[in-house]
Amino acid sequence: MGSGEKTSLASAIDGDRLWQRHMELARIGATARGGVNRQALTPEDGRARAKLLDWAAPRGFAASVDPIGNLFIRRPGRDAAAAPVVTGSHLDTQPTGGKFDGIYGVLAGLEALEAMCDLGLETRLPIDLVVWTNEEGSRFPPTTMGSAVFAGALPLDRALATRDATGVSVADALAAMLAAHPIDGRRPLGFPMAAYVEAHIEQGPILEATDKVIGAVTAIQGLRWFSIEILGQAAHAGTTPRRQRRDAFSAAVAMVTALERLMVDETDTVRFTVGRVEVAPNSPNTVPSRAFFTVDLRHPDAATLARLGDQIEAVCRANTRGCAVTVVETIRSEPATFSPKIVSAVTAIAHRLGLPHMEIVSGATHDAKFMAGRCPSGMIFIPCREGVSHSEDEDARPEHVTAGAHVLAEILADLANSAD
Ligand SMILES: [Zn+2]
Repeated sequence: MGSGEKTSLASAIDGDRLWQRHMELARIGATARGGVNRQALTPEDGRARAKLLDWAAPRGFAASVDPIGNLFIRRPGRDAAAAPVVTGSHLDTQPTGGKFDGIYGVLAGLEALEAMCDLGLETRLPIDLVVWTNEEGSRFPPTTMGSAVFAGALPLDRALATRDATGVSVADALAAMLAAHPIDGRRPLGFPMAAYVEAHIEQGPILEATDKVIGAVTAIQGLRWFSIEILGQAAHAGTTPRRQRRDAFSAAVAMVTALERLMVDETDTVRFTVGRVEVAPNSPNTVPSRAFFTVDLRHPDAATLARLGDQIEAVCRANTRGCAVTVVETIRSEPATFSPKIVSAVTAIAHRLGLPHMEIVSGATHDAKFMAGRCPSGMIFIPCREGVSHSEDEDARPEHVTAGAHVLAEILADLANSAD
């Protein structure tokens, strides 16, 4: 047996190849400060996809796109007609994004498929590597557009009609990208999947802080946004007694204080943020006539998210201090719970490979959210430096990048060879 012979997925995963591909893709849309600006459906996004297809081509993997431009690259299985196991993420970035958010899940998926080829490992089910269109939503809102359209959570025609700040539509940008980099194969939206597993950097500080290499993601937390507007009465700060005031900002402070008390939980799981506050007329010697604040509330448990969010209006109404208040919910996104079977499989593989691991909830949203209701789904997290993401400073360690790809390859091979 030659020294280049691959005997296991561990030996077949090529960490250097995987790392170098991150660096190579980071050159497409590179920013002066070491980050990446490769927003969805730009020429740079198209070049990144073309580069990926260049790497996949020598393996003979077939490529296809669906009507919103989600790209699928298939490693065939013995049962060609069977629903595939699917892995992947996204190649688009924030305007000041990094080298790993999304890119990691795509490249780790390709590495897993190539390792199976190098090992001569056959699977019963096909395995599709997916590049979801427009995960970031920075050019065309909303985030996770491609996976939402695929899953039927966002109508295709509405997504295609979405325009960027310069008036270009998703439909036109997608057509231009496919004209520049043609792909022959076509796939329908919402085709059945046997399972879905996405690898991603954590985008938070928990794995690094606890010296873990692998996070078995149990859920993506849900989110509710509220806008609270309070109308009082402008008055002279020197002459108006407290009892005669209708101070909109004073009411806002009372509301936020009461809300913070409502949101306290011993496990520190609730995420409650008042991130925007406005006061009018914003004059040092006038009692404020108007105040406005936002609430961003997140929790992984649907019942808790519902219970807490549903109390926000009542708490605000109990603290008006004579002002009028309007509470409007602007966004509601339910939590996604991943398959316990996949969570425990990720945990078991990490354990077997001797990789420090833990179960973890995703604080950020991901394309996997829309697969969770469709097939057994899960995610694998690796640490990123200081938890920093959506930033040009985003970084990860090569050994973690390799370890996550190895865990991904193991679980994809298991899923694609499982009996049912
Ligand atoms: Zn991402």
